[in-house]
Amino acid sequence: MNRIAVLIMGLAFSTAAAAQAPHNVILFVPDGLRALRVTPESAPAMAAVRDQGVNFRNSHSIFPTVTTANASGFATGHQLGDTGDFSNTIYVGRPVASANNSVTPFLENDRVLGEVDQIFGGDYLDEETILKAARKRGFSTAAIGKVGPVLIFDHTDRTGELTIVIDDAIGTNNGIPLSSEVKAALTAAGLPLVAPGRTPGTTIANVTQENYFADVTAKAVLPILKARNKPFLLVYWSRDPDATQHGQGDSLNSLTPGINGPTSLAAIRNADDNLKRLRDTLGALGLTESTNIIVAADHGFSTISKQSQTSAAAKRPTTMFLPASCRAASFRSISPRRSVCRCTTRMRTMRLWARMLTRKYGAMDSSARTHLGRTWSLRRAAAPISFICRARMRRWRSRSSSSCSRRIT
Ligand SMILES: [Zn+2]
Repeated sequence: MNRIAVLIMGLAFSTAAAAQAPHNVILFVPDGLRALRVTPESAPAMAAVRDQGVNFRNSHSIFPTVTTANASGFATGHQLGDTGDFSNTIYVGRPVASANNSVTPFLENDRVLGEVDQIFGGDYLDEETILKAARKRGFSTAAIGKVGPVLIFDHTDRTGELTIVIDDAIGTNNGIPLSSEVKAALTAAGLPLVAPGRTPGTTIANVTQENYFADVTAKAVLPILKARNKPFLLVYWSRDPDATQHGQGDSLNSLTPGINGPTSLAAIRNADDNLKRLRDTLGALGLTESTNIIVAADHGFSTISKQSQTSAAAKRPTTMFLPASCRAASFRSISPRRSVCRCTTRMRTMRLWARMLTRKYGAMDSSARTHLGRTWSLRRAAAPISFICRARMRRWRSRSSSSCSRRIT
């Protein structure tokens, strides 16, 4: 089992079972944080938790080290072979309407998670999540922050009544509804019922959106949890530093400072400020002594160059650059039917990826040209694969009338 999930369950449930003062648990996930960047200067609140608490020095992300894969591990305590969430996308073998009919929908979307759940019999992870387990045992539960991982912690409840879910999508058609209790608390605190979007710009941290989630937690959700007078389990998934690191403009056309530039450091500080805010609020509410805080990132970040003409990676076959979702499907392909599925998925995924890269770098600057070159080579590579796939599909269909629409297991 995933160690963090075991730890969360242990800290919450065993204490309650011991008939002592029940403890609360906050899991604080600074998305994309590299542990070695945490120092008393760069991130004092996180450094304090680490240095004054217990430091798990040998922890590691689940591989592939992407967000929803690790969210599924945090949420269930299971490795990816059990949850099937190998990537931020998942192969479902049929078009998903809420994802523009993609067969490999992007999972950081509450509507998509709902539809994928339906496709997989009501629970795409097929494992109980810690928030669901906690609320069944009488805990209050809440998940706040980044859309996608937040809902994964209690994705089978879409009412907003059992677990408080507040992410980017609240107040929109894609979001989980707010309960009347939460709406009233937000309104009383003077907070909008719709989350702001990501802070625009490439040299500023995602401050506005993060402030909103911190405000919601400090001014509305923690007071609600306190007033209920029972133990709670709160997941706080900070979009920063990930959100800012993805878009930072400190290193255009240069490998230095790379991911260690001032904007990324501001994003780490942004997340750190919000952890401090939560701890201060716990103090004001008299909850410090009864609340355990776990800080654990889902994955790190690194600076890479996509422009080398000589590295081993640059010489690898194009298929090695396929997104993880496609490779995940490939790992599990064992039968002729599944071979066809794998081939078709690979072809479609390559096309989608090529289109996505073209869109991303549509307004080309000099740094994008090499990447765009990769896009075109992907497209060229997709053509023969497409031909081979169609031929295989025809051969397969000539032997069987079944269509290729079943979940690969
Ligand atoms: Zn992440």
